[in-house]
Amino acid sequence: MIEIQNYIDGELAAPVSGNYLENIEPAKGEVYSKIPDSDKRDIENATAAALRAFPVWSKTPAKERSNILMRIAELIDQNSEMLAAAESRDNGKPIKLARSVDIPRARDNFHFFATGILHFASEAHEMEGVAINYTRRQPIGVAGCISPWNLPLYLFTWKIAPALAAGNCVVAKPSEVTPMTAYLLSKICIEAGLPAGVLNIVHGLGPKVGQAISEHPHIKAISFTGGTATGKRIAQTAAPMFKKLSLELGGKNPNIIFADCDFEEALKTTVRSSFANQGQICLCGSRIFIERAIYEKFRDAFVDRVSRLKVSYPEDPDAKLGAVVSKSHFEKILSYIDLAREEGGHVLTGGEPVQLGGDYEHGYYLRPTVIEGLAHSCRTNQEEIFGPVVTLTPFDSEEEVLAMANSVEYGLSATIWTENLRKAHRVAHKVEAGIVWVNCWLVRDLRTPFGGMKNSGVGREGGFEALRFFTEPKNVCIKL
Ligand code: NDP
Repeated sequence: MIEIQNYIDGELAAPVSGNYLENIEPAKGEVYSKIPDSDKRDIENATAAALRAFPVWSKTPAKERSNILMRIAELIDQNSEMLAAAESRDNGKPIKLARSVDIPRARDNFHFFATGILHFASEAHEMEGVAINYTRRQPIGVAGCISPWNLPLYLFTWKIAPALAAGNCVVAKPSEVTPMTAYLLSKICIEAGLPAGVLNIVHGLGPKVGQAISEHPHIKAISFTGGTATGKRIAQTAAPMFKKLSLELGGKNPNIIFADCDFEEALKTTVRSSFANQGQICLCGSRIFIERAIYEKFRDAFVDRVSRLKVSYPEDPDAKLGAVVSKSHFEKILSYIDLAREEGGHVLTGGEPVQLGGDYEHGYYLRPTVIEGLAHSCRTNQEEIFGPVVTLTPFDSEEEVLAMANSVEYGLSATIWTENLRKAHRVAHKVEAGIVWVNCWLVRDLRTPFGGMKNSGVGREGGFEALRFFTEPKNVCIKL
């Protein structure tokens, strides 16, 4: 059985407590590795190592930092098959998805910020005849990065890469539910020659290890992706210490389909935006609003396609959905399907587990589920389920659909389908979301600001936004 280790001060190490937690393979429902049950003491050691490394790393020329991050990107690429297999086993997602999305994107994150830092420039403001200002952007010090289980290496590297590129040292915690690829990344960092203490990865439970990161007085910035309730707790802990915070939280994203859309394109992409990664992407559209003129036609075609999606074990090349991430998450999703029924919803397809045979009989498989007949204000339509469950709701006007779309506490992303350009702009401007896709979904340019409004978070990741977050601006004003 693989025993995962922490990565502290350049070395792989057991947790101070000597205790380990069980790591379960969701496709089989079996324990397959052990994870350090770290605590405050490991965070203390990791932070001390990061503080020791900071003076040299922060003064290392950007080009040298960039070269090391490029080397990490290359090693991710060279090990991509091994990493994809590990990600799929740890998370339950189809290996095809890990191969085509998760691992290439983890490589791209390092590649992107390794080059981005070479183009990052500071501003200058001239007051004619009076003075000139220039703004320095210095690394902050030690940054804490905490990430979730749905896109494990992808989201972990999305935080670590800009933090390191900007000259910070990092104490990072992957989700305890999916720690494997972060562990493999620590080995890659050692091989790439990342100096000791620059990146430290501590495994363990959120309330212990994550909480210790939020509480540590020498961790000056926290970049967190996860649930809104956890984000709130981190903000409460960190705010009195005036830490910089970037919080990427939950979503309940609307997918607005107008009658004048490209029907086939909208249908095909909506199947994907509903159920990719078993619906466990914060950007999945879980509330599908369809203009009444095409409601029945769209509903019937959608249900037909969804009911034919193959749910299977992750290595199956034909699997469109794999296992959901854990038993507790599986039960949570089923409880929401029960709630939808209680609230008067009609399950059009899915709504139940899938029983696979052989080695996979205890895995956590669910049929992709489509529900109609619910009020937009009911709990099923207001609360984040984060699984393969979507609702269909007809609408008659732009005003009505915007009111329903904006009625939730979240504001992460939205998708709009129409061939009418003016309407697309109008709705995009009025929908309450940090990210809007028109006639597409999950098309990502890493330079764009990424994040949500309302209870979906604070701050933005991506491009120079991330490099700004991980630096402290200092203005120098010189009298002419
Ligand atoms: P959680 O909030 O449960 O966990 C996220 C991370 O925080 C994990 O590493 C977790 O550790 C850790 N954590 C838990 N408790 C604490 C604490 N008290 N202090 C500090 N850290 C803690 O989210 P999930 O892992 O369940 O991820 C799903 C959520 O993430 C969904 O709500 C989803 O919408 C959101 N998400 C948002 C994205 C965005 O960009 N806005 C992108 C992807 C997901 P552990 O796992 O060990 O408990």
